[in-house]
Amino acid sequence: MAKITLDNLAHSYFSNPKSDIDFALKEMDHVWADGEAYALLGASGCGKSTLLNIISGLLHPSQGRILFDDKDVTQSTTADRNIAQVFQFPVVYDTMTVRANLEFPLKNRGADPKYIMQRVQQIGAMIGMESELDKRARGLTADAKQKISLGRGMVREDVNALLFDEPLTVIDPHMKWELRTQLKSLHHEFGHTMIYVTHDQTEALTFADKVVVMYDGRVVQIGTPNELYDRPQHTFVGYFIGSPGMNVITAQVAGNTAIVHGLKVPLSQAYDNLGGKVEIGVRPEAITLTEGKGLPVKIRRVEDVGRHKIIRAELFGNEINILAHEDQPISTEMSHVTFDKDCINVYVNDWLNCGVPA
Ligand code: ADP
Ligand code: MG
Repeated sequence: MAKITLDNLAHSYFSNPKSDIDFALKEMDHVWADGEAYALLGASGCGKSTLLNIISGLLHPSQGRILFDDKDVTQSTTADRNIAQVFQFPVVYDTMTVRANLEFPLKNRGADPKYIMQRVQQIGAMIGMESELDKRARGLTADAKQKISLGRGMVREDVNALLFDEPLTVIDPHMKWELRTQLKSLHHEFGHTMIYVTHDQTEALTFADKVVVMYDGRVVQIGTPNELYDRPQHTFVGYFIGSPGMNVITAQVAGNTAIVHGLKVPLSQAYDNLGGKVEIGVRPEAITLTEGKGLPVKIRRVEDVGRHKIIRAELFGNEINILAHEDQPISTEMSHVTFDKDCINVYVNDWLNCGVPA
């Protein structure tokens, strides 16, 4: 296992990058702890695969270094880095049996035949293909082939890190849940450093100890699911995590008060007179509908979603989402909202500003 350090790392696919926009990965410095399960989460095109391929050694960065523990591996191959990687689409040897596919990484490293036999049996069970071990891979469904790819990724216990790039895309929904659970238990059992790329927040939050949120070539936050939820460091994190996401509302902030369209909103922290683009972020469940107290809203639609209701409303011309308990009656008298002041985050140019206790 290894601690992974990204030192002053950046990457451009252009040979002569001129400005920030030419970089698929903007400059970053991070240390990823040994033995943790990370999810790399972000929208399509934000640089997840680029970062993963740089960590695995499929791609060499145009700037900076990668260290495994304290060893510089920037120029080493994937094999030298001792990494297993699983991709979005199956990579299997069609002419070989499922068993031979699974055995391959172990045989390659000269493992003991008895151990190989045992381990392949175990992995076969984990991916739900025990009874198909002696079938040829050719002719199997894409779904089954992807399970083989996953199995091959998981078969070696002695890797430095296990990397997965949206590995469950072609897997059917029920099996997705099953395989994710297996990956998690594999992590508990062997404590591999794992990095799991996904654009699906549920997948990220259920799989990982720590979620790395990427936006536009940058890592905008690394945190536990709770940290991301309660204290999004960037408006994108607040908006991307949660369903519906955090409401982001234009405001002016001075002292312990935010002003939204001329109306006062009390805050629990105090701030300097903030300049730049100032916004407050409020989760839908931290908003209460009232019959006259607070800021004026127009309710547009009420959606029942199991134990909650999502109220889609309009606040000074912008959409705002409010979460209420299923039993809470929503009446036409409800024309205003108040915010739970302990749950309001303040953002300047999209980054969280913490303020000081008021
Ligand atoms: P993600 O995996 O988050 O969807 P990628 O890392 O694949 O994002 O892509 C990040 C950016 O780099 C995108 O703008 C993409 O178009 C660009 N990109 C990815 N691969 C290449 C490549 N081989 N050559 C040029 N540009 C690329
Ligand atoms: Mg990708």
